[in-house]
Amino acid sequence: MASIIDGKAVATAVRAQVARDVEAFHAESGRRPGLATVLVGDDPASGIYVGGKQKAGKEVGIAGFDHRLGADAARDDVVALLADLNADPAVSGIIVQLPLPGHLDGTELTGLVRPDKDVDGLTPISAGLLALGRPGLRPCTPAGVMRLLAEAGTDLQGAEAVVIGRSNLFGKPMAQLLLQANATVTVCHSRTRDLPEVTRRADVLIAAVGQDRIVKADWVRPGATVIDVGINRADDGLHGDVDFDAVQEVAGAITPVPGGVGPMTIAMLLSNTLGAARMQAPA
Ligand code: NAP
Repeated sequence: MASIIDGKAVATAVRAQVARDVEAFHAESGRRPGLATVLVGDDPASGIYVGGKQKAGKEVGIAGFDHRLGADAARDDVVALLADLNADPAVSGIIVQLPLPGHLDGTELTGLVRPDKDVDGLTPISAGLLALGRPGLRPCTPAGVMRLLAEAGTDLQGAEAVVIGRSNLFGKPMAQLLLQANATVTVCHSRTRDLPEVTRRADVLIAAVGQDRIVKADWVRPGATVIDVGINRADDGLHGDVDFDAVQEVAGAITPVPGGVGPMTIAMLLSNTLGAARMQAPA
């Protein structure tokens, strides 16, 4: 029976550490890290996500700048706001909450965030730094998975790691981080031939597909570490991409949904915001 990797507990510990580090940073520098969120439109889910990020920031002593623009905001208004936030020394990190309304280009606008304030780690510069193995801000969810693997004591050196999903948000940066940790990485996607045959090779299997419980017990190598990134809403609650009940009989360690990867994302965002503030600290 697999051990359960308790993401909620790890995230709580990360947040407590960030809170202590924020206080130390404040004592040294007289500054507080600041997190600016930009929400365009009135999508209720996005409003809840932004509110959650700001609340979590406040709890660890990060200053909040919660910017909300109407659904009909012009591109130039968002560009001007981002320019102001890029220039504002009180703002260490900037998030453009996606998706944006249809008339705005999310890729273009997130790309305008100054790289050293890119706490979502999604700009082309941040992606490039990651690909080159150079220091930079890393996307929060893959960074959270790396932290969970470390907490679970998973040895990545030379391990076979399989990532299902190749999104810019998760799959690609996840693969890069695993590669940097010296895993042998395979990235699967919707055109992968015989997916179970590939996933059965994995010492570490990471599923980020967005399909309810697609990963079955016979896809998993006995003793493997299984990380479930998927969030799928069903009538009976939230499910991951992994058939948890069956897979936990085979795996060595596994993350639950909810309570696994999910809580790590905001924790790593807070950690990134502090890291960004440190990068911007005057020498
Ligand atoms: P995405 O952009 O929709 O990417 C899904 C990936 O899965 C794509 O690469 C797609 O392949 C692949 N895929 C789809 N069906 C497949 C199949 N039958 N077999 C193999 N591969 C398949 O999604 P995402 O943004 O990466 O997110 C993935 C999941 O993680 C979602 O459930 C999302 O809600 C969740 N998520 C959770 C968090 C968190 O904080 N916990 C953060 C981010 C994402 P193609 O590229 O060929 O289309």
